[in-house]
Amino acid sequence: MVTLKSAREIDAMRRSGKITSHVLTELMKVARAGMTTAELDTLAERGIRERGGIPTFKGYNGFPGSICASVNEEVVHGIPGSRVLHEGDLLSIDIGTTLDGYVSDSAVTIPIGNVTQHARRLLEVTQECLTVGIAQMKRGNHVGDIGAAVQAHAEQHGYGVVRELVGHGVGRAMHEEPQVPNYGEPGTGMELRPGLVLALEPMITQAGPKIRILSDGWTVVTADGKLAAHFEHTIALTEDGPKILTLRDFAEDPALERYRPTREAIA
Ligand code: MG
Ligand code: MG
Repeated sequence: MVTLKSAREIDAMRRSGKITSHVLTELMKVARAGMTTAELDTLAERGIRERGGIPTFKGYNGFPGSICASVNEEVVHGIPGSRVLHEGDLLSIDIGTTLDGYVSDSAVTIPIGNVTQHARRLLEVTQECLTVGIAQMKRGNHVGDIGAAVQAHAEQHGYGVVRELVGHGVGRAMHEEPQVPNYGEPGTGMELRPGLVLALEPMITQAGPKIRILSDGWTVVTADGKLAAHFEHTIALTEDGPKILTLRDFAEDPALERYRPTREAIA
């Protein structure tokens, strides 16, 4: 069942989203070669709790971390731990906050130091995939319009779109209806209406779209061992169009500006 949110609920989700985006920005700034993903996880949990939130991921189906930290060929759901980040790695950080019973969910993939031109391009295109998906979040459009736009943008650059994992509705629970695939046909699926809040999260691979799950039961990796990237925002469709509830404010750090969606995408 799809639950539409009231303006008051969307305000509550925005407050949750502000914690998520603030803590994620902090992690983006501090992540560097030599750190372990467990150190980032500790900072994330502290940052969320200091602001009155609860780390949504911690204990979710038994997940041990407050973030998912997925490196290089890891697509999503990497368990933070003793893995040390190295120059040239791609790191996906996925984070969720529950505040006053409302969940916000957001992810970025960032370069650790200098990365190859190919890796940088994958990051750019995956972030663009999220942006073109958000641009389809208009009243009267359908869920399939989002997936079709994401898929077209990724495949136009020769990249793969993961099929097994999808975006989702979000609200009192992290995963609500509807599912939002990153592929599809325009005009199909549920019609989008004001009050709908979605977590859009393209998972894009450098080559083939096939994935497998490691023996830890969580970590999703590309079957071919090539790189993957993942960006996610929690977005409310309002009477005034889509509003990103996990939008980050980078005014104080121009180096992070590239992670801000373009104005056109949120208009
Ligand atoms: Mg997420
Ligand atoms: Mg999500």
